[in-house]
Amino acid sequence: MRMNFVGTFPAYRPRRLRQSAAMRRLVSETQLSASRLVLPLFVRSGRKIRRAIQAMPGVFQLSPDELLREAAQAHRAGVPAILLFGIPDKKDAKASGAYAANGIVQQAVRLLKKELPELLVITDVCLCEYMEHGHCGIVQPSKTGAKILNDPTLKLLARTAASHAEAGADIIAPSDMMDGRVRAIREQLDKGGFTETPIMSYAAKFASAFYGPFREAAESTPKFGDRRSYQMDAGNAAEALREVALDIQEGADIVMVKPALAYLDILHRVKAEFGYPTAAYAVSAEHAMIKAAAAKGWIDERAVTFESLLAMRRAGADIIITYAAVDVAKWLK
Ligand SMILES: [Zn+2]
Repeated sequence: MRMNFVGTFPAYRPRRLRQSAAMRRLVSETQLSASRLVLPLFVRSGRKIRRAIQAMPGVFQLSPDELLREAAQAHRAGVPAILLFGIPDKKDAKASGAYAANGIVQQAVRLLKKELPELLVITDVCLCEYMEHGHCGIVQPSKTGAKILNDPTLKLLARTAASHAEAGADIIAPSDMMDGRVRAIREQLDKGGFTETPIMSYAAKFASAFYGPFREAAESTPKFGDRRSYQMDAGNAAEALREVALDIQEGADIVMVKPALAYLDILHRVKAEFGYPTAAYAVSAEHAMIKAAAAKGWIDERAVTFESLLAMRRAGADIIITYAAVDVAKWLK
């Protein structure tokens, strides 16, 4: 914007356009809409199971029957998509549960697509929930600490993505942050005939303390070390743009910035630089902080939630992944 073309007082009085609600709506630049929201859901085996997540009020680990109920409710409220995470019964050193044809996510996807064909099912592709050590890739133990192997992990990720597509997933969302995984997944999908299945990559995913509550939900806390050898350093913005560029070159259709609120500058730069459909993930602690303060009566939950999501939209997010999706969709009605 060229500021020298902007009017000056008293000819220009910005308050003229703030006189009434109708006037303010007329000139509002950014709106929230349920059609932009994605609800993350966690599925585990069993029946009639709703296991509450301590630090995420309103979020549960759900058995497939309960998952279906929750997804139907979201769909009715106007939320167009869910993002599915699986909690397997057994974990091992090669994450076999992640790509098993009858794995928990694969079963859930088939059920959802049969019962709610119009609801978009996005599947998170990662190995951490399925690995006994809780890391997102294959681990090679060494004297100086474990190493997460990049290229051997790609095969397992690609296999997982293909099994999700075979089950009927609408969008594949790799969250592991291994180098080259979007290309590996794109190739595997194309080979299997899924050339039309989009990839939403967690392109700029930061190693963040804001993921704390999620690890309880997905039971994916690493048993040793941390994720800093693959997730990004919080201070790096230029590197985030390179990560996004790489994923786009490798075939990502939608790029994501995660977390959202503490990384709005990244979101803005990604949208401005690439113009690709861009998603923001309002992560577990963002949700937990609002819920906790609201429960104490310290903030207005609805107003703070709206303002936070609006900030993500204003920064450049086309899509917002949020645990508050159903509440927000209902509030917007
Ligand atoms: Zn992971």
